[in-house]
Amino acid sequence: MDFELPADLSAYLTELDEFIEREIRPLEQADDNIRFFDHRREDARTDWDRGGLPTEDWEALLAESRRRADAAGHYRYAFPREFGGRDGTNLGMAVIREHLARRGLGLHCDLQNEHAVVANNVGLLLMLQYGTAVQKAQWVDGLAAGTRFFAFGITEPEHGSDATHMETTAVRDGDEWVIDGTKTWNTGVHIADADLIFARTSGAAGEGRGITAFLVPTDTAGFRVEEYLWTFNMPTDHARVSLTEVRVPDSAIFGQEGRGLGVVQHFFNENRIRQAASSLGAAQYCVDRAVAYANERKPFGKPLSSNQAIQFQLVELHTQCEMLRALVHKTAWSMDTYGTFAVSEQVSMCNYWANRLCCEAADRAMQVHGGLGYSRYTPFEHIYRHHRRYRITEGAEEIQMRRVAGYLFGFMDRAVVKGVGAAKP
Ligand SMILES: Cc1cc2nc3c(=O)[nH]c(=O)nc-3n(C[C@H](O)[C@H](O)[C@H](O)COP(=O)(O)OP(=O)(O)OC[C@H]3O[C@@H](n4cnc5c(N)ncnc54)[C@H](O)[C@@H]3O)c2cc1C
Repeated sequence: MDFELPADLSAYLTELDEFIEREIRPLEQADDNIRFFDHRREDARTDWDRGGLPTEDWEALLAESRRRADAAGHYRYAFPREFGGRDGTNLGMAVIREHLARRGLGLHCDLQNEHAVVANNVGLLLMLQYGTAVQKAQWVDGLAAGTRFFAFGITEPEHGSDATHMETTAVRDGDEWVIDGTKTWNTGVHIADADLIFARTSGAAGEGRGITAFLVPTDTAGFRVEEYLWTFNMPTDHARVSLTEVRVPDSAIFGQEGRGLGVVQHFFNENRIRQAASSLGAAQYCVDRAVAYANERKPFGKPLSSNQAIQFQLVELHTQCEMLRALVHKTAWSMDTYGTFAVSEQVSMCNYWANRLCCEAADRAMQVHGGLGYSRYTPFEHIYRHHRRYRITEGAEEIQMRRVAGYLFGFMDRAVVKGVGAAKP
């Protein structure tokens, strides 16, 4: 057994840090761009006159940072070389995402927007796996460069965790499909070229088979954004959309007819381990900052850190970070070695634990910083509010614990993931 990070991965972290200092940090510091990250961040990012959507200058800054990262050969790290990537692994992505989040808030990595100089581009990953030749020709270049994007529409107002009970339907009519229903919380629809809409095409409510994914262009007749939902952390780009007799050709099917749940499971499984690594990095950042402040702040004339009441809380969090890091690395390595779905139980363990740990670490960092911790002059409120979301959105933590429980108590089959089939590809 070898617990060392591969040498090329360690070297790559150094290369990334140098790139960030050379090309991203100066951009972040130029022209008052720091307003997007300092105490003014929420206001600077939110266009209050446009329903709370992200401001155009905020999105333009993120796009410029993506462009620089792509030109320098970092943005596509996770993808095959033929698409300009570096054949990155799940382990590599986990280590990189932890590293970027541990650097704190900045233009190198902003989790509120899933933005990072090394992209977490699950859309491209799905396109390479499930897209037809025609879809790939239309989408791969734009997705890879971060200039095209499709949103993800599975959740409905009445069905979130129980998504297989969805009420949206698609009915075949000659060479076309007619889709009717309502989706909600579709992130990024305002800039999306299409929405990946999941609709029941056969089978009964609750069944894994019979759900089909369709790439629906957002300008299709009958597709309508009804509202953007305001959240704990603003801006919002999370839309409720209605689909009324939306017609798409058979070629809009993504993956196979009736096999859409497999696409969803794939998305979540890949995203959950990366999200876990990001939450771990953000948790460790909060611990690091709290330790530094506790050493420096001297209430009653002695360092705050000399009190065991301060030390022990941070020791517990630091210990959990160490343990979680070992599980994240092992799980990501297992995904690389045995296949994406082979360890979905451990993926869920990493995800729910990491998101919760990050919230606890942000809360503790606030406490250690006193009034300053509660203010927007420190980043902990922002970190807390964003990572609090992850405890609900990537399959809520109860739903991930439900999977672990399903395997633990034997009422789910580890070898057959719902909607996917055999766990080992
Ligand atoms: C900011 C944000 C962005 C999002 N982005 C997207 C997106 O891009 N695309 C998309 O399709 N969806 C998106 N979602 C939706 C998200 O996936 C759902 O909110 C999530 O799956 C939970 O569903 P729900 O909100 O309907 O909660 P519910 O399913 O109603 O659950 C409510 C609570 O009950 C718990 N619960 C449910 N069932 C059980 C059970 N059996 N045992 C114990 N507890 C249970 C849940 O864990 C949760 O805590 C987003 C949501 C938010 C807030």
